[in-house]
Amino acid sequence: MNINLQSVDPSETQSGEKLYTPREVAHKLDLSVETLRLYEREGLFVPYKLSSGHRRFTEQDIEWIVCIQRQIHENKLNFAGIRYLLSMLPCHEMKPCCLEDHAVCPAGNKACRPCWDFEDTPCRERGENCRSCVVYQQVLNIDNLKQILSVKFKCD
Ligand code: SF4
Repeated sequence: MNINLQSVDPSETQSGEKLYTPREVAHKLDLSVETLRLYEREGLFVPYKLSSGHRRFTEQDIEWIVCIQRQIHENKLNFAGIRYLLSMLPCHEMKPCCLEDHAVCPAGNKACRPCWDFEDTPCRERGENCRSCVVYQQVLNIDNLKQILSVKFKCD
């Protein structure tokens, strides 16, 4: 039989990280696949997409989703509150962006949502991938997130 390998979804990233389907994550975290879709639509995370367009989740993504749930259920934040917290990340300093980009970026100082939730930031218009960006990677590493924000507020 002729198997088209292109149509087979891999279960690992190229670096060997295990990938989970939305259904597996939903089962693991006792939530629905619709809730995962909602978190994505609300701009709380950037999904890993296979070439087929299907979503997959790494362990790091799962930890981040657990953190989102904690903010909702324990800290009583709504989606706008979480987006606002994430918008405080000094992305232009973390990346860092050139002055020209910073001047025109819609995710500038007055934004109330994280930079990856904008379609038209200069970096996204250049085709940069938010998932592999240092800004988003720091968010996925929850321990760093607190540290970044505390440094930011001490400096301001
Ligand atoms: S590439 Fe994406 S995550 Fe990185 S700074 Fe630009 S918009 Fe933000």
